[in-house]
Amino acid sequence: MFRQSAFRIFAVMKSFQEILLQTDFARDDLVALLLAEGEDRQQLFQRAQAIKLNTVGNKIFFRGLIEFSNICSKDCLYCGIRKSNKKVNRFEATDDEILEACRFAWLNRFGSVVLQSGEQSSPTFIQRINLLLRKIKEISNGELGITLSCGEQSIETYRQWRENGAHRYLLRIESFNADLYRKIHPEDDFHSFERRLQALKDLKTTGYQVGTGVMIGLPFQTTEDLADDLLFLKQIDVDMVGMGPYLEHEDTPLYKFRNLIKPKQERFDMALKMVATLRLLLPDINIAAATALQAIDPAGREKALTIGANILMPNLTPCEYRKEYQLYEDKPCLEEDADLCRNCLEARIELAGCKIGYGEWGDSKHYKK
Ligand code: SAH
Repeated sequence: MFRQSAFRIFAVMKSFQEILLQTDFARDDLVALLLAEGEDRQQLFQRAQAIKLNTVGNKIFFRGLIEFSNICSKDCLYCGIRKSNKKVNRFEATDDEILEACRFAWLNRFGSVVLQSGEQSSPTFIQRINLLLRKIKEISNGELGITLSCGEQSIETYRQWRENGAHRYLLRIESFNADLYRKIHPEDDFHSFERRLQALKDLKTTGYQVGTGVMIGLPFQTTEDLADDLLFLKQIDVDMVGMGPYLEHEDTPLYKFRNLIKPKQERFDMALKMVATLRLLLPDINIAAATALQAIDPAGREKALTIGANILMPNLTPCEYRKEYQLYEDKPCLEEDADLCRNCLEARIELAGCKIGYGEWGDSKHYKK
């Protein structure tokens, strides 16, 4: 009797090795991967890297990141540039400054730029982006790819921006657990989980390559939540993912829960395992090595590149504005100018064993399919 049931348990229990070699994953499998330590963890990283090389290849693509404004109408409880943070000096880079950064990206053969900002949706803002998109295409001979990351907008706005030249959009869902989402945002319609999810659907409808992601190591977040996040990323059929560790910011309401979060190094380790596990689950998408990784470990982004990520976003924001775009504490590269950043990046990427896809858009293979 006993022997029979023991046998049954043995028969359904999978080894870590068996899980690693699967091509589809249940929630429990993902949890097991996210909890891997020691030798198992090394094997997860090796498997992720092998899958990456077999599907998207060895190349890293650059997206020059231009954080062009910190003016924001939202009040997200974790974010340093939230509307209610009165310590922040609000700025808006001029068109010339933005175009100069784009020109730098183009001359240095970065395939694309990302224009990111706080959330605004006035007609003036919408129109400004329309014009900027056209100018960026003009000055780069139509060669620069453009990703936008300007928050939730109406489907009509997304459509206009798409028509004017943007072809990718990043909008992190932050957490797919609706309860957790509510805990880290003000409770009103303007910050609703459903609205954010709808925005992601609208971006798909309007033809963008859609990128989303979550923060890792939030207060109240469990490993099961993170496994669910991965399953949701698959379910909504994303083309690109950017996710990184949550980093507390003193001037935000979420800071009071800092005793509930794991030490920074653990959040960092979990973020790496999330990247590797995601590569197993969705082999052909683009995965960014998030800047927040670098805030914990100076080589954090390169580490992500060796275990599954294939996109890097060098910061091209004019230096004078960087200190005012502090989403979290210890945001890196505050002093460096874009040029310096590029040189150090190049050496570090080669050290990570990757090649740079200069002058290529590096679109998501998943989207092309
Ligand atoms: N307004 C845009 C861009 C937001 S900033 C939008 O709504 O999409 C880009 C990302 O920074 C956010 O989506 C969030 O995931 C991340 N971020 C903000 N505060 C953070 C913090 N304290 N720690 C880690 N990441 C943070």
